Amino acid sequence: MTLTKHIFVTGGVVSSLGKGLTSASIGMLLENRGLRVRMQKLDPYINVDPGTMSPFQHGEVYVLDDGSETDLDLGHYERFTQSPLSRHSNYTTGQIYLRVIERERRGEFLGQTVQVIPHITNEIKRCIDNLSGDDVDVVITEIGGTVGDIESLPFLEAIRQYSLDVGKENCLYIHLTLVPYLKAAAELKTKPTQHSVGLLRQIGIQPDILICRCERELPLSDREKIALFCNVPTKAVIEERDKDFSIYEVPLSLVDHGLDDQIVKRLGLSTKSLEIDAWRNMIHRMRNPVTEVNIAVVGKYASHKDAYKSIYESIDHGGIAHNAQIRVSSIQSEDIEREGPERLLSGYHGILVPGGFGERGTEGKIEAIRYARERQIPFLGICLGMQCAVIEFARNVMGMAGANSTEFDRSTNFPVVCLLDEQQNVTEKGGTMRLGAQRAQLALDSRSYECYGQEQISERHRHRYEFNHQFRKQFEAHGMLIAGTSQNQSLVEIVEVPDHPWFVAVQYHPEFKSKPIAAHPLFAGFVSAAITAKEIIGEAKSMF
Ligand code: GLN
Repeated sequence: MTLTKHIFVTGGVVSSLGKGLTSASIGMLLENRGLRVRMQKLDPYINVDPGTMSPFQHGEVYVLDDGSETDLDLGHYERFTQSPLSRHSNYTTGQIYLRVIERERRGEFLGQTVQVIPHITNEIKRCIDNLSGDDVDVVITEIGGTVGDIESLPFLEAIRQYSLDVGKENCLYIHLTLVPYLKAAAELKTKPTQHSVGLLRQIGIQPDILICRCERELPLSDREKIALFCNVPTKAVIEERDKDFSIYEVPLSLVDHGLDDQIVKRLGLSTKSLEIDAWRNMIHRMRNPVTEVNIAVVGKYASHKDAYKSIYESIDHGGIAHNAQIRVSSIQSEDIEREGPERLLSGYHGILVPGGFGERGTEGKIEAIRYARERQIPFLGICLGMQCAVIEFARNVMGMAGANSTEFDRSTNFPVVCLLDEQQNVTEKGGTMRLGAQRAQLALDSRSYECYGQEQISERHRHRYEFNHQFRKQFEAHGMLIAGTSQNQSLVEIVEVPDHPWFVAVQYHPEFKSKPIAAHPLFAGFVSAAITAKEIIGEAKSMF
């Protein structure tokens, strides 16, 4: 019998209920009761990973140390918990079918008809098993999608079977649902929840705990009604009210409704009592900022808030580190192409250009960077943002008219950004970029070193193009600092403009390693520079 306990989190009624956040919050609470937790998401779509999907479809692609390209919910897991994540932390229907079909081709099922039950469901159960072990107390498995979707059925069937395999006492089913408020009736409505749980029970899953997303307080009478119709005790109907201030309040409200106590009791876990003072202090700091700054994020997907999820979170973390409230504006880079940077970017104390693919909107990003560099506004460039900073510097400081990345202009005379050598013969698109953690070496006289406080760093990458080494000397001669290189020095990982208050651009993705109680050094440094910029503007104004 396994020692590891399993929590399965499903969602009902509608998508976007925040299952990832709720799962992450549960993980965080259990860790803070001294348990060793592992987190995992099973996604019902057929792509092998989200790496080939547009951010419009799927939001950001979250990259792990081991180079896996995963769902953005894994970002919540990393921000809320210490659970180590790996390729075992995110499986898709595509991956599962691929494995089963490969095994069928190898002849592992000779003589058999390969079917959803048991072959696909067995494979799903193996994915869950991969996280169990002697060093793990609880595995939390979030099932993507909404109960009732055709795609989710094999996953639901597999988690139903799982409790038969490992014992009912070792599994806990949590269902997240919506209890909408109908204005016309002036009432909260429990029927969608009843239907959603009804669907689960038809499949053979009786949820143990219902977490009810709602706009307003869920009164006892409604909780009793849900409990009666859904066959759970009233105390197992937990309110999760919308958080208008911060997502980081979610775990605290779940504690207030006794969720962690119920989970540990139901799973028979012996734990220490909950210790979340550090988290509470963080929320207190967020609620009591001493200053505020305006930051502009200039990207291609400004209207889609999930496309740069980890970037927005990391900026907030930088704010928490400096007791600053950050007002972030998303600015469409194509709007800058039409209207110019002056109109759209004045009044910001920091400008950030994030990663991206494809030419659309790049000229607007380059103009935004020029504005930041010339107006001495703190600037952080990330991945494509760094490549655009290199192009901007080449064109406007070094006089290389038409300098570009070969991603956008193959015949440019000044290919200051070009395809990585290792990418020359790569033809397949899935999982083939330079991915995951790579070590880098920082220059001691750089802002980056000032922020990190160490010479060696490890950061996560996701790109095919790089700073063209052949131009390195010319850039240095014009005053650009190569502030970080890969360990063998062949790749430029960070560029800076020393003759500027704070201009740092990195080839990697620092946003994947920032946490609310441990802001990434570059985001903390960027926000600190923005605060200084604001103070200088204030002083200059008061002199006149
Ligand atoms: N498109 C660029 C490249 O592939 C940048 C990638 C990114 O920003 N993640 O190198």
